[in-house]
Amino acid sequence: MYDVIILGGGPAGLSAGIYTGRAWLKTLILESAVVGGNAAIADKIDNYPGFPFGILGGELMDNFRKQAERFGATIRMEEVIMIEDTPTGKKVITTEAEYMTRAIIIATGADRRELKVEGEQEFLGRGVSYCATCDGAFFRDYPVAVVGGGESAVKEALYLADIASKVYLIHRREEFRATPDSVDKMKKNPKIEPRLNRVIKRIEGDTLMRRIILQDVQSEAEEVLEVEGLFVSIGLVAATDFVTGLINTKDGYIITNEHMQTSVEGIFAAGDIRSKRTRQIATAVGDGVQAGMEVTEYLKE
Ligand code: NAP
Repeated sequence: MYDVIILGGGPAGLSAGIYTGRAWLKTLILESAVVGGNAAIADKIDNYPGFPFGILGGELMDNFRKQAERFGATIRMEEVIMIEDTPTGKKVITTEAEYMTRAIIIATGADRRELKVEGEQEFLGRGVSYCATCDGAFFRDYPVAVVGGGESAVKEALYLADIASKVYLIHRREEFRATPDSVDKMKKNPKIEPRLNRVIKRIEGDTLMRRIILQDVQSEAEEVLEVEGLFVSIGLVAATDFVTGLINTKDGYIITNEHMQTSVEGIFAAGDIRSKRTRQIATAVGDGVQAGMEVTEYLKE
């Protein structure tokens, strides 16, 4: 029986683990993919307070992990399939095992949204990617495209501009969601060519992807872009399948009160998985710290 099981080892989950570990709660953190989450595969993180010249995502999250482990949290690489609220405690079922715990913090974050166009699945790993820092190096001196208009897409385009021969940034509108500072840097970069008011109709190739077919959203005219890589960066979707029917959600994200408490007593949520407006590493950390402290209070009561 654990005191608390934290689902997700990203910024929110590891921050919660630092606080529950420090409170001497028997803490297990379950992570299905990468300890550190999306932040760990980010290139340079420039806006996390305390690092005036930025820090690599991998380095920052490695420090989070070490700190959580120093305070006694155990981290296991297992995917959670289901959680159950039973009369004797809360049950967490993973691909490997079943655990019982007195409290749960859900901090599973959000996954990359898929484009859902012809060729996306066929050329996944053969030109199509969801992570420039992971796969960008394969495209040295080749033309590539990034799709999306948020901070992630613009940052991916800037990152790829140092590697690829040319970067097309495809966005379905004129205005970007990314910060003015990032948009300004992107517009000044001679290797990035924005293609606005366009959507991707399909991805074509042979054994590898070779081109994308764009469509102008106004005229509906089609255009062929010869690119060897396409980086899909069109936002996030909540990873809450395993709580369906148990916990109240909105648009797939978990609803909490100001104490990070969900609709089920003893189950808390923190970070990007919460229904909220701002999704930053710093806000995930704040959520995680609060969830860790609230769980400590809850278990004392
Ligand atoms: P986002 O802000 O939700 O932007 C998603 C973009 O993709 C939007 O421009 C959207 O277009 C476009 N889009 C969505 N579905 C599409 C589709 N089916 N086809 C074509 N385009 C589509 O997502 P994000 O950039 O991944 O950022 C997520 C969160 O992380 C945000 O809160 C962001 O601030 C944060 N973030 C922060 C940093 C940082 O360094 N601080 C870095 C990355 C991300 P529309 O604009 O037309 O809706």
